[in-house]
Amino acid sequence: MPESTPTPRLSTKISAIAESATLKVDAKAKALQAQGRPVISYAAGEPDFPTPGHIVEAALVAARDPKAHRYTPAAGLPDLRAAIAEKTLRDSGLEVDPSRVIVTNGGKQSVYEAFQVLLNPGDEVIVPTPFWTTYPEAIALADGVAVDVFADASQNYQVTVEQLEAARTPRTKVLLFVSPSNPTGSVYSPEQTKAIGEWALEHGIWVITDEIYQNLTYDGVRATSIVEAVPELAEQTLLVNGVAKTYAMTGWRVGWTVGPADAIKALGNLQSHLSGNVNNIAQRAAIAALTGPQDAAEAMREAFDRRRKLIVGELNKIDGFETPTPQGAFYVYPDVTALLGRTFGGVTPKTSLELADLMLDQAEVAAVPGEAFGPSGYLRFSYALGDDQLLEGVQRLQRLFTS
Ligand code: PMP
Repeated sequence: MPESTPTPRLSTKISAIAESATLKVDAKAKALQAQGRPVISYAAGEPDFPTPGHIVEAALVAARDPKAHRYTPAAGLPDLRAAIAEKTLRDSGLEVDPSRVIVTNGGKQSVYEAFQVLLNPGDEVIVPTPFWTTYPEAIALADGVAVDVFADASQNYQVTVEQLEAARTPRTKVLLFVSPSNPTGSVYSPEQTKAIGEWALEHGIWVITDEIYQNLTYDGVRATSIVEAVPELAEQTLLVNGVAKTYAMTGWRVGWTVGPADAIKALGNLQSHLSGNVNNIAQRAAIAALTGPQDAAEAMREAFDRRRKLIVGELNKIDGFETPTPQGAFYVYPDVTALLGRTFGGVTPKTSLELADLMLDQAEVAAVPGEAFGPSGYLRFSYALGDDQLLEGVQRLQRLFTS
């Protein structure tokens, strides 16, 4: 009798998923901090501020209201969907009926579900690279194929239409568009956005546009939504967004997707079986965030702006760091290829992964290596930490790399 192949104990598809590299670095830094080591971590992708008081108050009121102890419709509270529709018009220039909005358990769930409803096995997704570490896994989980298109620091990490066209095949189904970007903080100009949108429209390619950092822009720059630049694209675009970054609400888990009626219907069906509604109380807090005063969010943005200037200035003092000045999000993404192959404290890193280890071991500074977001040779620093720590950490690096 021929031996039969043993049945895998766990799902092969799920077993192939890598642990989130950004969370891994952050967890390592936190574990060292717990041992009493004075680690400064630039790894976290979340604001260090508390959620503004009036939003917390709205949640407290909701928690005492028995109506908020029940399920809501799977697609979200009608008032929240209406507030999101207004916000979409305000910031993305797209007029939508609230029925075209679905509330999700954070932008992460929006991203996961978007690929689930758009992709068939083997469909290709063009992923401008460096990319946020979750995208390739979400694509693989939907049986899609990620096609990376890399833009380096000399291009300000922004892909061109020519590069996209070179990557297009008959299987190209979706383009990811992320501006401001995680991990680079790069913001596409209105002209670039329009050119890319027109290319997608011409070739009938869906766009998933992740606008989660839309309100965190600097130097007077506004992130133009791809549907504002090319309104005809709205019927083939899913807009992903959420309250996490703008309102320091990462732990509350409220995001959303806006899109054409057929896709929103499919998303609603999927979500009704996957998770049902988002936490009712958190939805009411999100209504307060979107419809209430915006001064606390603006104050946080101003603090990020100040820290952005500080970290870019200090990192660029280090020979071997080439750090473009980002105009959005709260990350900087220096090119550190010039440091690879050089020896520091007896160690010669050959990759940014090894460089990040060296920084953690010898300077007690954590940053996420480029390998988490695409090619080696880069480091992501989040500047969502207090000014003193921010400065102390880069000064440690200045000492490490000039010794
Ligand atoms: N998109 C991008 C680009 C992100 O960086 C993040 C958070 N790291 C998300 C989506 C998801 O945000 P959340 O699930 O917290 O709403």
